[in-house]
Amino acid sequence: MKKIQMVDLKSQYDKIATTVNTSIQEVLDTNTYINGPQVHQFQKALEDYLGVKHVIPCANGTDALQIAMMGLDLKPGDEVITADFTFAATVEVIALLQLTPVLVDVDLDNMNISLDRIKAAITPKTKAIVPVHLFGRSANMDAIMALGKEHNLYVIEDNAQAIGADFISASGTKTKVGTIGHVGATSFFPSKNLGCYGDGGAIFTNDDALAHIIRGIVNHGMYERYHHDVVGVNSRLDSIQAAVLNAKLPFLNDYNTARRNAAAKYNAALSAHSNIITPSFEANENNHVFHQYTLRIIDADRNGLMQYLLDKGIPCAIYYPIPLHSQKAYLDARYKEEDFPVTNQLVKEVISLPMHTELDDEQIQFITDSVLEFLNK
Ligand SMILES: *Cc1c(COP(=O)(O)O)cnc(C)c1O
Repeated sequence: MKKIQMVDLKSQYDKIATTVNTSIQEVLDTNTYINGPQVHQFQKALEDYLGVKHVIPCANGTDALQIAMMGLDLKPGDEVITADFTFAATVEVIALLQLTPVLVDVDLDNMNISLDRIKAAITPKTKAIVPVHLFGRSANMDAIMALGKEHNLYVIEDNAQAIGADFISASGTKTKVGTIGHVGATSFFPSKNLGCYGDGGAIFTNDDALAHIIRGIVNHGMYERYHHDVVGVNSRLDSIQAAVLNAKLPFLNDYNTARRNAAAKYNAALSAHSNIITPSFEANENNHVFHQYTLRIIDADRNGLMQYLLDKGIPCAIYYPIPLHSQKAYLDARYKEEDFPVTNQLVKEVISLPMHTELDDEQIQFITDSVLEFLNK
């Protein structure tokens, strides 16, 4: 059996090596390392793929979130509501911009931000909601957009984990997540569903005026050379990373399908077990693109399972072990433990198994057999 990895980027690269190498070689041959034609080509290709008017490439997903927020007229002290159960980057940029992060609990069934908790957290100071499409599954954007509209709030989608996922609205319209809110942000970190070979990110919006503002912000606040109209940053996707992404974007749907297929096989083997809650997903709808495959282990020794798998050479991880509201950097007197029952439960129950585009049946069988072996001991 091939050695099991949490993410197998080498095997994925081997299959497309010629295309990637040719694409990178073009950058080397033309010395267009910054803002080369590859960056523009990728921007256009991603706009087409997502069906969004504007993609603004930038240096990483954290910058993408920060710049998205800088582009909106948010003022220090404005409250921004986001999920307690996510990667810290989401809350970090809110705090960095001197906005006030307001963390709220998530729902148990899909681990995404809870609509009721958002409602309860809205105050006259609330200016924006940041849903995170956690582990590759779309948050309920119908409800979030309606709530945003009702309270005149911006919706900023953290789409770092769900590029390519569809949201199917109640009316049946299919839209790529990240393009539904006022602005969306994604990451091309190597292990993300569309990863480059270094850091990269992008901002999405259908708003022409906002896109214009953001294009200036990523470039030192310049709209005309050496005229700095707003405080900006330097955040660029470099041409070599864009070249990698140009080679990989045509495979994104296949990659997401491979992840969904692996998830379906995991589910088939594990969902009947009484100590396991598997992630649910609609077989025909691309609403979950499985950035992570995350189980809940109930009434059993989750940490023991993790050690058992690691000892057998099966990588696994706890995403995320500590709720953000309990992190030293984000402590706030407004938070009460009883407001976070689900996150407090999830941090004790979740375990993520290997998930990537190259998992084979033998590996999946070995992983699921090992999980069951431990739980049936
Ligand atoms: C990866 C990630 C980010 C940050 O992306 P980087 O490119 O690493 O800066 C932000 N939010 C979430 C939910 C992520 O998973």
